[in-house]
Amino acid sequence: MIDLHSHTNESDGTNTPAELVDAAVKAGVEALGITDHDTFAGYELAVPLGRERGLDLVCGIELSTRAVLGRGQKTVHMLAYFLNGGPTAAFRAWVTALLASRRDRNIRLIRSLNEHGIDISLGEVEALGRSLTGRPHFARVLMKKGYVGSTEEAFRRYLAESAPSFVERDSPTIEDAINTVAGGGGISVIAHPVRLGFRKHEDEEHFIAGLAGKGMRGIEVWHSDHSATDTVRYDALAKKLGLLRTGGTDFHGANKPGLELGTGRNGNVHVTRGVLEELRTAAAVVR
Ligand code: AMP
Ligand code: FE
Ligand code: FE
Ligand code: ZN
Repeated sequence: MIDLHSHTNESDGTNTPAELVDAAVKAGVEALGITDHDTFAGYELAVPLGRERGLDLVCGIELSTRAVLGRGQKTVHMLAYFLNGGPTAAFRAWVTALLASRRDRNIRLIRSLNEHGIDISLGEVEALGRSLTGRPHFARVLMKKGYVGSTEEAFRRYLAESAPSFVERDSPTIEDAINTVAGGGGISVIAHPVRLGFRKHEDEEHFIAGLAGKGMRGIEVWHSDHSATDTVRYDALAKKLGLLRTGGTDFHGANKPGLELGTGRNGNVHVTRGVLEELRTAAAVVR
């Protein structure tokens, strides 16, 4: 059993890299992809611990990108995996710039929440983050201060795209991200496609085929948010479009309760070693 999608407390998970490695070993996970949002810090801290414990660690990252859809835009989460000696220095510099745009968003989000009558400061939120501060950290402060009773409520009322206090973040286009990942030595993958939110399967397929045409290399077939029928559909779509398949739980520790490393929600995720072998084979081919 392997798990190619997890977060440490360097982004918006709650487990330290050491705790995550320990939990993975105890859960019987043989290979673990660490895919923090916008940082490699968690993966890098985990490397020596993984070596000690005999856990095969995979270097990854999760990026928030924007894609044009009809007359509007859609936020698309992309996973990138670096299976050949890690990302280039140029790619790391690009990621550092993403962190700056995130901080700018956080400053504006605080201002917006203040305007909506919430007493919250940047210092309070940043105190919970390490390499970066994300919306789940905002949710925790809103909970602690009694404005909301759960993370879900914090997103619904204040932090989600549909909330009145939401502020837009300056994120890269999906084309830019696909090309930068490829140039940086990585394999780009559409994360949790079910969250693209398409109602009609034909619209979903058209959108994903368009991304494949732009150079997207893979699709996350197994994920905690995928039902059994979603998994079957994405598996078939991968075959049809010639996309690599990946899968993981998207473990965030206490920030996403009810979800186990390696097995997901009520055992709905099961990814085999063969999936990682196919990724490594693809990465070894110079394109
Ligand atoms: P950010 O990267 O700061 O914009 O925050 C996005 C992160 O917030 C996602 O990667 C999820 O971990 C989390 N998130 C987004 N929407 C929700 C939601 N409705 N409930 C709980 N967590 C969410
Ligand atoms: Fe997250
Ligand atoms: Fe995501
Ligand atoms: Zn994730």
